Amino acid sequence: MSEAEAKQIERMKAVLEAQKAAFRTERHRPLDKRKADLDRIAGLCRTNADAIAEAISKDFGNRAREESVIAEIAFVIQDAEHTKKHLVKWAKTRKVGVPMTLMPGKAEIRREPKGVAGIVSPWNYPFQLAMAPLVAALGAGCRAMIKPSEYTPGTAELMKRLLADAFEEDHVAVITGGPAVGEAFTKLKFDHLFYTGSTQVGRLVAKAAAENLVPVTLELGGKSPAIVTPDYPQDAAAKSIAWGKLFNAGQTCVAPDYVLAPKGSERDLGEAIINVAAHQFPDASSDDAYTAIVSDRHYDRLNAMIEEARQGGAEILQPGHDAQAAQAARKIPPTVVLNPPADAAVMTEEIFGPVLPMVGYSELDAAIDFVGDRDHPLALYVYSTDKTQAQRVLDETMSGGAAVNINLLHLSVPDLPFGGVGASGQGAYHGEAGFLTFTHERSVFSTGKWHPSRLLAPPYGKMFETVAK
Ligand code: NAD
Repeated sequence: MSEAEAKQIERMKAVLEAQKAAFRTERHRPLDKRKADLDRIAGLCRTNADAIAEAISKDFGNRAREESVIAEIAFVIQDAEHTKKHLVKWAKTRKVGVPMTLMPGKAEIRREPKGVAGIVSPWNYPFQLAMAPLVAALGAGCRAMIKPSEYTPGTAELMKRLLADAFEEDHVAVITGGPAVGEAFTKLKFDHLFYTGSTQVGRLVAKAAAENLVPVTLELGGKSPAIVTPDYPQDAAAKSIAWGKLFNAGQTCVAPDYVLAPKGSERDLGEAIINVAAHQFPDASSDDAYTAIVSDRHYDRLNAMIEEARQGGAEILQPGHDAQAAQAARKIPPTVVLNPPADAAVMTEEIFGPVLPMVGYSELDAAIDFVGDRDHPLALYVYSTDKTQAQRVLDETMSGGAAVNINLLHLSVPDLPFGGVGASGQGAYHGEAGFLTFTHERSVFSTGKWHPSRLLAPPYGKMFETVAK
């Protein structure tokens, strides 16, 4: 551990104490103050859009500016504004009915901030995946500490500076560092821990949170399938799948991981996807609109996956490209892997890059079984013009979220809760689901000075018999 990391670990304990103390002085942050907090988030996104996009691009080696604007900056602005707009409604105390036997009385659910939230974020959307949970936490009236990924240090430092300018440290703070800092961070006694990252580290985070009985949200990964049925127009499927797979060069938790296509159509669909890619990025290796792979480790991992599949007998389709330039720019050209061996890493591990295996299925039942035999994915996509077939796929599979005839964009619908199930995660956020993640729903039953229940006291006698009926 570096000296800087040791310092961050010391600092995080002090910041947590300060945030907890500040929370006790303002347990119910007034809604107008929360709205001002959300305005500050939207404001810092607007004012610093260029700096944010540049920092992300530098961290990646090259990130298409449009991708950062859409998926990081505009996303967070929309999220903050949506939360502000609905805050009064979401924060309202809910009244519930009281059974006859307990009348007269008032029963209600108060929506109260949990306290101090810990947020651990990954590198793939380094701004959005730290700031969107922060929006939810601030909307709920919490204080928050963020531990961003060490793979995107420039973005982490920029976020630290922008948030320090906008908020007191006892309200919002950023703690930087690698896995050792992450490990120490997740051992802190937060009032809620919100983790986005790999399933592997998610297991460790869940264990650390369990030690302190800290409630935890796990936004994890997995292999999200796209099932194409025979009736669906191939060009439309190719366009949509290519877009979702190549956005951020496939480094998206809900990117289509692999395609299940009707047997015999894999090659045609695979070639159509490569044609779309070649049209969109005439030379992926030199095109700034095509994002680089974030690190050498991930670049080598993806190349090893392609090579293993090739050696296992799979056919590899790629558009023409300058291999040397691609390597120098740390870019993997759009790659389709036709019918890889079932035990190849492309079929057993989350890909998280622009590499798309195509697997043929004979009947829809087989495609549904293929998905059911594996961990529940974070997303599932079905392309079908036949509504009953699409419905069948939804009815007979399970995934965190799903989309029909489109991909990725279900996560941009603010009122759809976003999260995984089983190995792809637990809990959800975005919109009211995010507000509720950082909210404690406190049940309160109140009566007047006198209540008939006073009569319900030992010795019970006749009164007990009436109640038990
Ligand atoms: P990662 O798990 O390696 O790292 C995520 C964060 O955890 C980083 O901040 C890291 O420093 C920290 N960390 C590392 N080791 C730790 C430890 N032992 N204890 C505590 N914290 C630790 O993930 P990554 O490579 O940055 O992100 C990619 C993964 O994230 C993919 O699997 C992807 O599917 C998933 N992801 C999920 C979502 C979602 O919303 N469900 C979104 C984006 C990414």
